[in-house]
Amino acid sequence: MTEKVVVVGSGFAGLTAGALLQKEGYEVTLLEAAAEWGGCAGKFRRKNFTFPVGATLGMGFEENGLHRKINDSLSIHSDVLPLETVMDVRIGDRVFPYFTERSRFLSMWEKEEPVDALRIMNFFNEVWRIGQSLRKHMLHYPVLPPKSIQELQALLRGFSPMSVTLIPYLGRTLGFLVKKHRLEECHSFIHFINGVLMDSMQTTADKCELMMGATALDIYHHGAFYVRGGLFRVAEDLVSSIKENGGIAKKPREVVSIQKKDHWVISDHRGNEYKADHVVMNVPLSNIKTLLDEKTYREIQPSLKKKEDPTKQWGTFTTYLAIKDEAVPREMNLFHQVMVNPKLEPSGANHFFMSLSEKGDHLRASAGFRTMTVSTHINLNEWQTQEQYEQQSKVILNSVTSKLKQLMPGIDDDHFMYEITGGPRAWERFVKRQGGGVGGFPQTKENALWNAVQHRTKVDGLWLCGDNIFPGAGSIGATSSGVHVARSISGKKLV
Ligand SMILES: Cc1cc2nc3c(=O)[nH]c(=O)nc-3n(C[C@H](O)[C@H](O)[C@H](O)COP(=O)(O)OP(=O)(O)OC[C@H]3O[C@@H](n4cnc5c(N)ncnc54)[C@H](O)[C@@H]3O)c2cc1C
Repeated sequence: MTEKVVVVGSGFAGLTAGALLQKEGYEVTLLEAAAEWGGCAGKFRRKNFTFPVGATLGMGFEENGLHRKINDSLSIHSDVLPLETVMDVRIGDRVFPYFTERSRFLSMWEKEEPVDALRIMNFFNEVWRIGQSLRKHMLHYPVLPPKSIQELQALLRGFSPMSVTLIPYLGRTLGFLVKKHRLEECHSFIHFINGVLMDSMQTTADKCELMMGATALDIYHHGAFYVRGGLFRVAEDLVSSIKENGGIAKKPREVVSIQKKDHWVISDHRGNEYKADHVVMNVPLSNIKTLLDEKTYREIQPSLKKKEDPTKQWGTFTTYLAIKDEAVPREMNLFHQVMVNPKLEPSGANHFFMSLSEKGDHLRASAGFRTMTVSTHINLNEWQTQEQYEQQSKVILNSVTSKLKQLMPGIDDDHFMYEITGGPRAWERFVKRQGGGVGGFPQTKENALWNAVQHRTKVDGLWLCGDNIFPGAGSIGATSSGVHVARSISGKKLV
């Protein structure tokens, strides 16, 4: 008899697991609480404008990349633009283009920091060597610690003589390499890597687990991509794949309870019940308690490693803009990371990530217009009262608009068609990130690798995936966890 799988949530992780399993012959039902697919990588619309809610910068679409391999196995084609410059990293008034090509990237440092350039070059060469070695492992989707023959094989397949060279880096943070190359005093370099790590690993070099940090600093050199229309199209293609292969995908359908009986019984907010052999929970850890029956929750709670408090992650404040194209300088790159004042922390009003739609991307905006998503990390503890909320929103919005005016000198009020903002409450309401925690746990030694929460639970047929689950952090981590779930359920390699 065909096994039934209910996937709760249509983030990248749930969609990946659902699409791979449906293709493999399982009966998949995907239930999404929101009006849109894709969670933090979803979208919303206002008239002719489409705004990606969160994720905008694509990775893994290169040969052998994560999304490419999944797409190939599901016969999906994503319309992506490979970026020569991943982003402009703006530190105060200085601009550091993040070139995909490694030699160009190092030449940029030679020009910008001639005194430290050799040590910067040595730092990156070492980081990239680690990154390349880890990539060989990642290509096989290893799970830590491996608990089945299949998982052990996946781990062993990645081993090469180079793997042994990783041993001295175990148990360290990226700060170790910064010190080793005597770069603590090269402020632009520190701000540069910290900014990049905050966006990908949710923490800075001094706290970032070394292997995860090296992966983050290596990944863009394999390819960074603008997805035409937005990353949500990848999510929507995965939904189509589920449906085309005979599965069911429903929204808005908020799951309100998951109970273990002789089968799993999943109930949605309309009172519908779904029976399943497997439940895949693509929800943040903070949401789990309210969904599971008490006995099941008690059984899995120890494996959640006390990570259900949403404030252990960053929150985000996002600004969505629709602007007239005439205000955008011709050569302006699509992605910008901005550190307003290098003397302050890389968060809040001082540090944000700006993504602009490509000129002529009519899936995002009609002719003559562009849309923009700007996001910043916020400390959720500082957004608990109405007063704090209003005050902080105002400060961030001012900071974003004044930077925009600097980057687009001719821009004035007439050029703005929309200005919409979203704080932790919006993230809770629209994509069910309870408490507003987003992006996954900071990849510190306490949260990364062996210390991450695993996709399998002690309870038969109950699986977890998403950016809170190993390997964690961002859409690539979330997608990998979806692959792990699909592999564990099916017992097959799949991709
Ligand atoms: C502002 C911002 C910018 C980002 N930028 C980037 C970027 O540029 N590049 C990148 O790679 N990553 C980026 N990320 C990270 C990336 O978007 C996320 O890590 C990833 O999309 C999370 O996927 P997920 O599988 O964990 O699920 P989520 O995105 O959390 O989706 C889970 C889904 O489950 C649904 N759900 C929850 N509870 C229920 C329920 N009870 N019943 C039914 N459905 C439910 C939710 O509505 C949601 O749609 C960004 C994140 C944010 C917040």
